[in-house]
Amino acid sequence: MAVRIDGKAVSARVKADVKKEIEQLKSRGIEAGLAVVIVGDNPASRVYVNNKKKACSEVGITSYEYALPQDTTEEELLSLVEKLNNDSRVNGILVQLPLPEQIDEHAVINTIVPEKDVDAFHPENVGHIMIGDYKFLPCTPAGVMELIAETGIDPCGKSCVVIGRSNIVGKPMAMLLLHKNGTVTVCHSRTKDLKEICANADILVSAVGKANFVTADMVKQGAVVIDVGMNRNEEGKLCGDVCYDECEKKAGYITPVPGGVGPMTIAMLMKNTLTAVKAANGITD
Ligand code: NAP
Repeated sequence: MAVRIDGKAVSARVKADVKKEIEQLKSRGIEAGLAVVIVGDNPASRVYVNNKKKACSEVGITSYEYALPQDTTEEELLSLVEKLNNDSRVNGILVQLPLPEQIDEHAVINTIVPEKDVDAFHPENVGHIMIGDYKFLPCTPAGVMELIAETGIDPCGKSCVVIGRSNIVGKPMAMLLLHKNGTVTVCHSRTKDLKEICANADILVSAVGKANFVTADMVKQGAVVIDVGMNRNEEGKLCGDVCYDECEKKAGYITPVPGGVGPMTIAMLMKNTLTAVKAANGITD
């Protein structure tokens, strides 16, 4: 039976470390601020934004929420982003995705100044991730790396398989594993022999977005199985990509959903905001 990796506990530790540093900065008169922008009334986005604001208040970061209507134009959103770029109270800018269809996501991401791009989506920060000299961590993949570290298993030389190649999760995930010297295979919807490839993985990360996608026959005995997926099953309950009950019998370590990768993403966002505050104040330690 697999050991369950507790994302809540690991994220609490990361947030406690961030909180300590934020308190030290406050004692020097330095305040930390994160602008959270939400456009429209997507219920999932509202939950994510509320969770991010809650984490800010836990660690002592002031959050500034900007809730814009569904029919906001791209011009209006870009003008807000530019205002936030120039607002000295704001160290990080987070625009919750997805955006309504009249707004080009790339235009928004490219307008956030890289120094405040705490999601690390701006091409300049993506480039840093590619090179392995990060300013900001890609939140979800970095959270996954913390969970893998928790198992004590070093990706060096291991067969690591990432299912999914999105810019937000799959691609940066592959990079982080590669930087740790894993032998990385990235699978996607056109991959042939997906089951066989996965069944040889020492570390399997699923970021597909389909409930019950990873079954026990895709899991190597004793593997580390990380479930990034956030889906709703037929009963409307939150679930990941992995058939947890069958895969936990075969895996060595496994993350649950909820309580696995999700809380880590938010903890890493807090860490990135701290990095932005320190950089804005010329603090290099
Ligand atoms: P995405 O942009 O939709 O990417 C999904 C990836 O899965 C694509 O690369 C796609 O391949 C691949 N895929 C789809 N069907 C497949 C199949 N049958 N076989 C193999 N690969 C297949 O999604 P995303 O933004 O990366 O997110 C993935 C999941 O993670 C979602 O459930 C999302 O909600 C969740 N998520 C969770 C967190 C968190 O904090 N826990 C953060 C971000 C995302 P193609 O490229 O070929 O289409």
